[in-house]
Amino acid sequence: MSYSFNRRGRTSGASRSNSSRSFNRGSQRNSFRGSKGRFKYGAQRSNINPAQYVSGPVEVQAEKIYQPQNSFADFGLLPKLLSNVTRHGYTEPTPIQDQAIPVLMNGQDVVGIANTGTGKTAAFLLPLINKLLLDQDQGVLIVTPTRELALQIFEELQAFTVGLRLGNALCIGGMNINAQISRLRNNPHFVIGTPGRLKDLINRGNLKTELFSNIVLDEVDRMLDIGFRPDITFIISHLPRQRHAAFFSATMNRDTEAIMRQLSDNPIKISVKKQESLSNIEQDMVRIKPGQNKADILYEMLIKENEFPKVIVFGRTKHGINKLEQKLDKYGIRVSSIHGNKSQNARQRALQNFKQGRVQALLATDVAARGIDIDDVTHVINFDEPMTYDDYIHRIGRTGRAGKIGKALTFVD
Ligand code: ADP
Ligand code: MG
Repeated sequence: MSYSFNRRGRTSGASRSNSSRSFNRGSQRNSFRGSKGRFKYGAQRSNINPAQYVSGPVEVQAEKIYQPQNSFADFGLLPKLLSNVTRHGYTEPTPIQDQAIPVLMNGQDVVGIANTGTGKTAAFLLPLINKLLLDQDQGVLIVTPTRELALQIFEELQAFTVGLRLGNALCIGGMNINAQISRLRNNPHFVIGTPGRLKDLINRGNLKTELFSNIVLDEVDRMLDIGFRPDITFIISHLPRQRHAAFFSATMNRDTEAIMRQLSDNPIKISVKKQESLSNIEQDMVRIKPGQNKADILYEMLIKENEFPKVIVFGRTKHGINKLEQKLDKYGIRVSSIHGNKSQNARQRALQNFKQGRVQALLATDVAARGIDIDDVTHVINFDEPMTYDDYIHRIGRTGRAGKIGKALTFVD
């Protein structure tokens, strides 16, 4: 792809209106509504009432501020770890950190129900790092649904363990397995990975599960959505019976509870899930009228770059995302995309380009975007409707973070 990575340079006025026109004219032929009628969304339709895509005006003052019971210094972390926390810019615990860290420090198992972006990573990393500093003859296994999430946790781990002499290994699909195997030979204290690759490494005898008496399952509901249930069950069955477990999920249902019971007899349940976080997000829907083309409408929005500077666009299928990317790219919108068919490197590059503002829009499927933490996303656009309201909440939670106001627009036809 040939982006010009020049923020302003891309569109001189003339070429912009030109491409705008040809985009619309071309839409007859290039339209996703092909000759057979409609673009395929996949078999199922969304079960969401479109009224749920619309929010009232944003309340600015009404937000209740959580008062943590603890400061980071109260948790009893070793001084060198505490100073890494401070150095990393954390001044006050988030609610899930405030409530889960004491329980994990106490050696009890935790089930944490918390929205994305609420600081779960440090909630389990800090007590477990502390535990390993006190006793290095054990390991911590952290399982997450996606490669990107594993990488984010890995980066947080590195920040918190600077100078602490704890080994680590990132074991995710799409990356060279031999490098991971040789890293595992050093018996790292922390192993972070995705279920498929971890299972593979256990089967090959490279991951010595008997050492991993500490286990974290992150974003369990999504792991189940992606179909990782057999892999998770496999991994759990290889762990020591005596173990310390932390389990995080944004939702709790029969399936997640079944996994949880496999993992732990008597976990402490902590729920800090809040719907109010949506008050930061202005939600609306965009009605697509008969004869209108969704890609054209998206294009008309994105050419107004000042209004739509940093946008995540959700589509339902990899194929749909690819087509949309090609089309927008052709008409001069700087876009990148992440979905399951891309190599790990390509996904990482796409994310970096978006994070650093080299592209204006990131096109994503639900799975690929789960838990991704990107600052200052101005809009989430649901190009295809989400399947469930849960997915909707996850999608729009990419914007309106850190107290900023975000906008969520959902295309409905
Ligand atoms: P989750 O796992 O719940 O989605 P993360 O652990 O990824 O959330 O945290 C979201 C963002 O907030 C990250 O950028 C993280 O570094 C930051 N963060 C988490 N806890 C704190 C804190 N106590 N103070 C400041 N920033 C924090
Ligand atoms: Mg997380």
